[in-house]
Amino acid sequence: MVDLKGQYEFIKDEVATAFDQVMVQTAFINGPMVAAFQKDLERYLAVKHVIPCANGTDALQLALMALGLQPGDEVITADFTFAATVEVIALLQLKPVLVDVDPVSFNILPAAVEQAITSKTKAIIPVHLFGQSAEMEQLLDIAARHQLFLVEDTAQAIGANYTFSSGKVAKAGTLGHIGATSFFPSKNLGAYGDGGALFTNDDTLAHRLRGMVNHGMYERYYHDVVGVNSRLDALQAAVLKVKLQYLDFYNERRKEAALRYTRLLQGHPNIITPKVIGACDSHVFHQYTLRIVNHDREGLVEYLNVHDIPCGVYYPVPLHAQKAYIDPEVDSEQFPITNQLVKEVISLPMHSELELEQINYIAEKVLAYLNA
Ligand SMILES: *Cc1c(COP(=O)(O)O)cnc(C)c1O
Repeated sequence: MVDLKGQYEFIKDEVATAFDQVMVQTAFINGPMVAAFQKDLERYLAVKHVIPCANGTDALQLALMALGLQPGDEVITADFTFAATVEVIALLQLKPVLVDVDPVSFNILPAAVEQAITSKTKAIIPVHLFGQSAEMEQLLDIAARHQLFLVEDTAQAIGANYTFSSGKVAKAGTLGHIGATSFFPSKNLGAYGDGGALFTNDDTLAHRLRGMVNHGMYERYYHDVVGVNSRLDALQAAVLKVKLQYLDFYNERRKEAALRYTRLLQGHPNIITPKVIGACDSHVFHQYTLRIVNHDREGLVEYLNVHDIPCGVYYPVPLHAQKAYIDPEVDSEQFPITNQLVKEVISLPMHSELELEQINYIAEKVLAYLNA
């Protein structure tokens, strides 16, 4: 699905130099390299504070901890996403409230969010799924009207822009109270191990988070709040600092690959190609996800595997139907779109090193199966 080796070939001298700097500095946790990456990312995102941490799941958990939510508080998120989002809600003994998504953007439906709000609702976590910004303008409006926190899961959408109807543009992840992202190796900005970060423009939240990631310490061995151990190590920061320079280029390459796929596949009666809803830079194609309609999605997965084409089904089970998160009071019929999408979606190989011939070959095989 990704070609990290091809990407490495291109940047290996720069990575080697950056690794060497870390070795010379011998600061492996935090230290100058992590600080330098943090500054670069703050500048890139045009956000006041970036707080690096150990992974994207921790980032989401830390966001909810910093907002001071109490057990029983309700947090609204999408039914159609990776489990990490709902996992941290449950871990903190908050109540996940799942809502359905839009069949075109795959993102949380603002109208469904509004309907799910109760007197116990404290926060909304939209996920910018597959790299496309969620409907932030409407979500910000809902959050403001109901005095709710907005935490953006930006694990799949780093670098995506969001354009408001006023014309104002900002990076996904910097619009709500806190943004969380992941630097898992296959993400658009991927480390060579685990990594994550939080974004906020709020000085108080930033300060709270900086202590929370490091055992609640603001002064060494003085623990003011309950924290966790979630730090970005310097070797990962070194890789990320090199790769951040190329993030826009990587995302541009992904977009070109997506356009090419779409040109080859759109119009087929059994295929719905992904749509970019907002401005063309609102989608960074972490995944290129088709819907296979009135045909056998499982058969296509098998056929592609036989032809050595990797593909993925993100996600095969709605969160409301996952064993860990089943709530007997929640009716599956509340999620008609997610229930449909889990049967139809298939993600094709998508990365910044995809060659034209590879895309042509993959599209040819998809069509060959559907037309057989
Ligand atoms: C990858 C991902 C996460 C978790 O990130 P990790 O760094 O693997 O913990 C959370 N949410 C979404 C939507 C993701 O894609």
